[in-house]
Amino acid sequence: MTQGITILGSTGSVGCSTLDVIARHPDKFHIVGLTGNSNIALLAEQCAQFNARFAVTANPEFEPALATAMGEHNCDAQVLSGPGGLEHVVASDETQAVMAAIVGAAGLRSALHAARCGKRLLLANKESMVIAGELFARAALDSGTVIVPVDSEHNALFQSLPDGFRGDLEACGVEQLILTASGGPFLNTDPGEMANITPEQACDHPNWDMGRKISVDSATLMNKGLEIIEAKWLFNARTDQISVVIHPQSIVHSMVAYRDGSVIAQLGVPDMRTPIAHALAWPERIEAGVKRLHLPDMSRLEFLEPDFERFPGLKIAFNVLETGGNSAVIMNAANECAVEAFLTQKINFKHIPVVVERVLQRADFSAVENLDEVLEFDRMGREIAQQEIKGMNANHV
Ligand code: NAD
Ligand code: MG
Repeated sequence: MTQGITILGSTGSVGCSTLDVIARHPDKFHIVGLTGNSNIALLAEQCAQFNARFAVTANPEFEPALATAMGEHNCDAQVLSGPGGLEHVVASDETQAVMAAIVGAAGLRSALHAARCGKRLLLANKESMVIAGELFARAALDSGTVIVPVDSEHNALFQSLPDGFRGDLEACGVEQLILTASGGPFLNTDPGEMANITPEQACDHPNWDMGRKISVDSATLMNKGLEIIEAKWLFNARTDQISVVIHPQSIVHSMVAYRDGSVIAQLGVPDMRTPIAHALAWPERIEAGVKRLHLPDMSRLEFLEPDFERFPGLKIAFNVLETGGNSAVIMNAANECAVEAFLTQKINFKHIPVVVERVLQRADFSAVENLDEVLEFDRMGREIAQQEIKGMNANHV
């Protein structure tokens, strides 16, 4: 029996890498559902190649185009659309594991539905864990499902924690979860030059090949900010148990420091297919198609303290980690809007953390109890962010 996999966001960077790994193991996995948004041609091609049972576009406007494209491929997958379509394929009896690889808060409903349905959740979509971590923790407890992190740092932490870790770091003798950060393309850029950074420069990451949103997040270090909050929820960590170290080579993907002075790290070449293969096969190990790490080729591995002045987004996220409540939802919403505004050249690179900070200052603190409240704070954060963005000028520093 092969394992039935549904990929939410199969047309993206993580989605395509997941299909690359799955294609190497037809004896272990088969595709149940593939979902995309606007790249209908690629989605149809993937569905035909992997003989998917369901083809889903998140946007109902594209459903007719998807149906036509599926016909052209002579593929008889059922075509669905919208949030209901995503939830249907996730909940299907045939789906045993769900790769959550939609970008941003747009991935929340479907990923949470997977956890609530008791599907094994392979989580790449960090924003959903950041904004609704408590709901995921509750869902996993209620349904008994396992959430295997795909984000490379969290996957490294997962691998470096004891087998069968059940959320009690103290009991396992863990002192620190140490997340590594590459520092992105502007680690050593003159701060005076930061306002002139173009979207193309920001998306050109030195080590990783990723979607545009996460590439910009990596350049501002807001990605690491999101990841410390993701780590809090995935591993039930307190603020003082999480730290960040800059490691420009992206070879050590993260570390766990124990009470006896041991530090356990996971290393590998920077290729998402390693954490993806680990999550797909866990607790087994399968071939991922990646280059092997050849240590003598590494002339040096560096580790530096993060510079919070150069990268204020990381500082903001540490404050949000401490504050809790709705602040992570607001921060994420503001960041998503600011990144989009930067990519469409409405604001400049240095404006991104400024927008996030101003939106957080304007929003009232509140606890968050359920999905509706998360979605409401997300909407509110976006509304305030758009107001702030309107008042800014890309040419102003
Ligand atoms: P991407 O932009 O390459 O792909 C995003 C996917 O989401 C696409 O399939 C797209 O069709 C879909 N999508 C976009 N908007 C949508 C919407 N409104 N509704 C439904 N689907 C929508 O992004 P990516 O780089 O693959 O990243 C995906 C997630 O994985 C992000 O949360 C990112 O932070 C995380 N992640 C990515 C990497 C990486 O190497 N790319 C590493 C770690 C974590
Ligand atoms: Mg990461």
